[in-house]
Amino acid sequence: MSETALKSNKPSLGKRMSQWIGWAFFWDLAGGLSLTLSYMFSKSVTEQYPDKEKWVPFPRYRGHHFLTTNEDGDTNCVACELCAKICPCDCIEVVPYEDIKGNRRPKVFNIDMGRCLYCGLCEDACPADAIKLGPHYEYSAENLEALMVDRDTLMEMPRKTKTGGGVFEAELSTTDSVQVKVVENKPGYDWWQQIRRH
Ligand code: SF4
Ligand code: SF4
Repeated sequence: MSETALKSNKPSLGKRMSQWIGWAFFWDLAGGLSLTLSYMFSKSVTEQYPDKEKWVPFPRYRGHHFLTTNEDGDTNCVACELCAKICPCDCIEVVPYEDIKGNRRPKVFNIDMGRCLYCGLCEDACPADAIKLGPHYEYSAENLEALMVDRDTLMEMPRKTKTGGGVFEAELSTTDSVQVKVVENKPGYDWWQQIRRH
């Protein structure tokens, strides 16, 4: 780099003066404190999860995987194992077999959700659009074995949503298992628009 170029990168005298004045009078500290104080007088927005509200992620969200199905209700997976090969965590296990129609299908299709890092590479690599990452994000477990999901479970997991990115009215159900279900046909609100951001 030439000397001229180095000189041109130096801050001007006016800018340096303004920095010195800022340091002398703690402008950054005053700015931080004024932001904190302003929050004391702004409206709080607390999402009422899980009792009354639930965040529905944007359609591009990468949550729990699902296996897509065809019109016969069978999986679209052709057990090529590309997803298992590309997975950086080695958390997909596929064992192929040939069904009665002569189609190659997965006899075993397991994903270890405890190891997955939700990179979406399996979805990108799949030549049959069979594996996708959906909107489901509530699946805590008490042990690692419970985070191992099989083919049938993957075929039943929620599909991608067309809309999202908002908070919707929801109901907490604890009858069979703990679930927070979005109430149909109730409008949501954009939480990001309601909070103050600087
Ligand atoms: S999202 Fe990434 S880490 Fe998870 S199963 Fe797919 S390829 Fe593996
Ligand atoms: S999900 Fe896709 S990439 Fe993975 S084994 Fe099935 S067809 Fe192949």
